[in-house]
Amino acid sequence: MTQRTKIVQILASKETGAPVLVKGWVRTKRGNKAVSFIALNDGSTINNIQIVADPNLFDEELLKNITTGACISVEGTLVDSPASGQGVEVQAKTIELLGGADNTYPLQKKGHTLEFLREIAHLRPRTNTFGAILRIRHAMAYAIHEYFNKKGFCYWHSPLITASDCEGAGSMFQVTTLDLQNPPKTEDGQINYAEDFFASHTNLTVSGQLEGELGAMALGEIYTFGPTFRAENSNTPRHLAEFWMVEPEMAFYDIKDNMDLAEDSIKYFVKYALDNCADDLAFLEKMYDNELTDRLKFVTENDFIRLPYTEGVEILEKSGKKFEFPVGWGLDLQSEHERYLVEEHFKKPVILTDYPKEIKSFYMKQNDDGKTVRAMDVLFPKIGEIIGGSEREADYDKLYNRMVEMGIPTDSMSWYLDTRRFGSAPHSGFGLGFERLLLFVTGMANIRDVIPFPRTPRNAEF
Ligand code: ATP
Ligand code: MN
Repeated sequence: MTQRTKIVQILASKETGAPVLVKGWVRTKRGNKAVSFIALNDGSTINNIQIVADPNLFDEELLKNITTGACISVEGTLVDSPASGQGVEVQAKTIELLGGADNTYPLQKKGHTLEFLREIAHLRPRTNTFGAILRIRHAMAYAIHEYFNKKGFCYWHSPLITASDCEGAGSMFQVTTLDLQNPPKTEDGQINYAEDFFASHTNLTVSGQLEGELGAMALGEIYTFGPTFRAENSNTPRHLAEFWMVEPEMAFYDIKDNMDLAEDSIKYFVKYALDNCADDLAFLEKMYDNELTDRLKFVTENDFIRLPYTEGVEILEKSGKKFEFPVGWGLDLQSEHERYLVEEHFKKPVILTDYPKEIKSFYMKQNDDGKTVRAMDVLFPKIGEIIGGSEREADYDKLYNRMVEMGIPTDSMSWYLDTRRFGSAPHSGFGLGFERLLLFVTGMANIRDVIPFPRTPRNAEF
């Protein structure tokens, strides 16, 4: 027998009496002179399989080395378990120690703080908590591809290195191969990017949207799903310097179609988690957030509130609530304002639309009032903004004038303007922060805990 069976399959198996080969990492070992119980986990499920070993059948030295954190391979027989709460266990015939772990293994006992686990991010995937989160992360990535594929969207790859920095000047990571000690200079003393790798000043992308629009204007409906980078020095529980974003972009969609897609897709992802990640969700609910499944179900079962920004601001002004940041028409909403609308006022997810043009990007469709643009932000409980999107300005002149007004270089962006010069069409799109979605689905409170290796200001470890 050479084929290993994953623990998730073994636990679901009814074939008692059958031989099995199982491999994994030891969570605990306990027992006495007559019997040893090893709880083994291989990452395929939150649940451990119990290995039962008769100490008389095994070398004493071997059993001594089966410690928390060690990796072993066990051949044995699947038997009904007399212990409550587990259907089957493995009666060991042979045990091989694949890799020992001495008592310096940092995950000896249970109950480490999330802060401590961040310091050992290379080992934390072996904990129950991170095993659950990372399996859910995988399931959500799969659900995203499944959803858009079913709808006939094309998976589109926007570049990660970009020469356009109009989205968020000042908050981008520069990409260069120039010698920082001794960069080449132009005659007037500026750094000469003509000598850089791409012969121009380049950055890591903050969003795949602009190139995504080019895709939508050819393929109809596309989505990106890839890493994006923001050098914003905001140390919050909701911001990463490197995060993953899902950005659908659709020709012939207006803002209403865009909102419908945002609401439908997010409900699909949450329902996928409820249907496919039950064990992991139950664990997280028990350990961290006793309202988790209720909150997830609530989102899948209720219509989102749709409301213009102007009315949202009025509600906030009338609330009588003391906010840390000021509220007023023309000011951007902070997370505390968004959460007030969602958690206290409506008690439902909210889609806010028609924001003042001054606080939104140049490419958003201008409303006839001359003051607002057809933006939409989806606001969620505990998170605040989970999606930001808009109908795009499809009119060449309006777009061009707005770019000039906002100081966006129209020369270097001529490729973008070309979509409006040649066969322009109404189109819309949005960006869903993948880790924000995971914060919601897992109930975790800090975005550093839903990605294997978080990148944040002053931290790029591992
Ligand atoms: P926020 O106001 O929360 O900083 P934003 O308005 O800058 O977000 P957008 O540019 O609209 O965000 O990006 C689209 C989505 O990407 C957001 O709705 C959010 O889900 C996610 N997102 C934005 N910035 C970050 C970040 N630094 N880390 C993780 N996710 C982010
Ligand atoms: Mn936004």
